[in-house]
Amino acid sequence: MKTIGMLGGMSWESTLSYYKAINEGVKQSLGGLHSAKIVLYSFDFAEIEDLQHRGDWTKTVEILSGAAQAIERAGADFLIICTNTMHIIAREIQERIDIPIVHIADATGNALKKDGINVVGLLGTRFTMEQPFYKDKLKEDFGIKTLVPEEAERKIVHDIIYHELCLGVIKQDSKTAFLKVIENLKEQGAEAVILGCTEIALLIKQADTEVPLYDTTAIHAASVVELAV
Ligand code: GLU
Repeated sequence: MKTIGMLGGMSWESTLSYYKAINEGVKQSLGGLHSAKIVLYSFDFAEIEDLQHRGDWTKTVEILSGAAQAIERAGADFLIICTNTMHIIAREIQERIDIPIVHIADATGNALKKDGINVVGLLGTRFTMEQPFYKDKLKEDFGIKTLVPEEAERKIVHDIIYHELCLGVIKQDSKTAFLKVIENLKEQGAEAVILGCTEIALLIKQADTEVPLYDTTAIHAASVVELAV
């Protein structure tokens, strides 16, 4: 079995979901007492979040690359960045390590393509919804068109992620607000919606809506289980 390197703690609420999903996947695949070989570097998210909102991506490259190099030295065979947002600097991290990064948008793009989805809605942080790194990858590598919510809805989604979900706070009002945004994306033509923030599945489940949902945490975790075993 290969060893999975994880850049986690962004936030730890979702790293917990990754850890559980990856170990369950390995157990399901190999049976018995098998569990995943993992090297995890978990950040203090307050430090990372501060840099994100100040736009200091250069410093985030320095910090995340240093951790990625430590993970590589510790024997990981490949690396996952356990957040959609921080894939903003995936290329810069990849340039500083020799083990491959399994990109979350590649895993998601493959899952969408397999299901024949051509137009998809994207929910995530403002960084993920507004900057090109995620949408361009889906378009260029998979031919998938991405729709994002309008400005007021993007603010709602972003604020719920940072002020509630990353703190482990789950509110019914927020769930209702998210479901409305999902419905609006469907009305604009989205055939499915990407839960493009690794905490959203803590709030929204497939059973809550008829719109097909793509949970990036589950998809990313499943893709590395396959690679590891
Ligand atoms: N985990 C979230 C994501 O998938 C947001 C936290 C972060 O900014 O890293 O984007």
